[in-house]
Amino acid sequence: MSSSTTAAPRRVLLAAPRGYCAGVDRAVETVERALDLHGAPVYVRKEIVHNKHVVEELSARGAVFVEQETEVPEGEMVVFSAHGVAPAVHENAEARRLRTIDATCPLVTKVHVEARRFAEDGYTIVMIGHAGHEEVEGTTGEAPESIVLVQTADEAERLEVPDPERLAFITQTTLSVDETAEIIAALRARFPAIVSPKSEDICYATTNRQIAVKQLARESDLVLVIGSTNSSNSNRLVEVAREHGAASHLIDNHGQVREEWLEGVDTVGITSGASAPEELVERLVAFFRERGAEDVSELRTVHEDVRFMLPREIREAQAAV
Ligand code: SF4
Repeated sequence: MSSSTTAAPRRVLLAAPRGYCAGVDRAVETVERALDLHGAPVYVRKEIVHNKHVVEELSARGAVFVEQETEVPEGEMVVFSAHGVAPAVHENAEARRLRTIDATCPLVTKVHVEARRFAEDGYTIVMIGHAGHEEVEGTTGEAPESIVLVQTADEAERLEVPDPERLAFITQTTLSVDETAEIIAALRARFPAIVSPKSEDICYATTNRQIAVKQLARESDLVLVIGSTNSSNSNRLVEVAREHGAASHLIDNHGQVREEWLEGVDTVGITSGASAPEELVERLVAFFRERGAEDVSELRTVHEDVRFMLPREIREAQAAV
C-alpha cells in the first residue's frame, strides 16, 4: 500500500518507561549466557519470557523450549523461566539429574517466600491473579493446601474461608494496579483482619508501565502495545489505555497494524510490555515514519534504573572460564 492512499498519523508518542524490565533482561541474558558457556542445546522450561519474537530468536541459537521438565533428557541443562516454578518442578528436575539454572525473577521469588511464610504461620492465603498463568501455578505450588485463587472483586465478595481471622493475601506481579486495588478493597470490606504482604507484590515495572500508558492514552487517539497475547502485563496495558480514553490494540509487531485502526488518528501512542524487545518498537516507529509521521517524541513519566544480578549458576560458570 502506498503512503499516499493510506491513513497516516502526524505524530508518534513513545511511552517511557516501556519494554524490557530487569527480570526479563536477566532471564533472556541467562539463556544467552548458558548457550555461550555450554553450547546448544540448552533446554528451557516454558517460554523464558512471554514474547514470541524472543522465543524464536533463542530457538534459532539452540535453545529448546519444552512445556515440562519431564521432557528434558536426563542429565541435560534446563533453565527455568522468569515466571517461576513450583517446588515440585525442582524435585522432578533433581530426580532426573538435570543441571538447572533458575531464571525466576527475584520479584516473583519474593511472592513465593511470602506464600511459604504465611502458610507456615497457618494462614489461608488469597492469591489475586489469573487462573492458568504460569506465575500463579508456580506460586500456588508453594502451598497448594493453603492458597485460594481470586480473580475478580465479585469473587472476593463471595469468598468463604475457614477462619476469617487467619487470612492473608498475595498477588501476581503483573496485574492491573487499579483493578487489584478494587479486589483488595472488597477483601478488606469482607475480612477486616486480612493481612497484606510487607510491600506491594505488583512489581515496579508493571506499575511504571501502567502509569506511563495512562498519560500516553490521554494524549493519543490510538495506543498500540507491542507484546504477545500470553503476556499478562501487555494485556493490562491495553486495558489501561482503553480505560483512559484511547482506542488500543495489542500487536506482536508492525506487520499486525490494521489500516482501519488508523482512520482519523492524528497521534498514535506506542508502548511495549515488559517482555517485548525495543527493536520491535523501533520497527513500528520506522513504519509510521515511512508513512509520513515526522513528529516522534517520548513521553517520560518515571525514571527506572533497576538491575538484577544473573543467576548464581551463570556467575560461577563465568568466573571459572
Ligand atoms: S514484569 Fe516484574 S515480576 Fe515480571 S519479570 Fe519483570 S520485573 Fe520481574
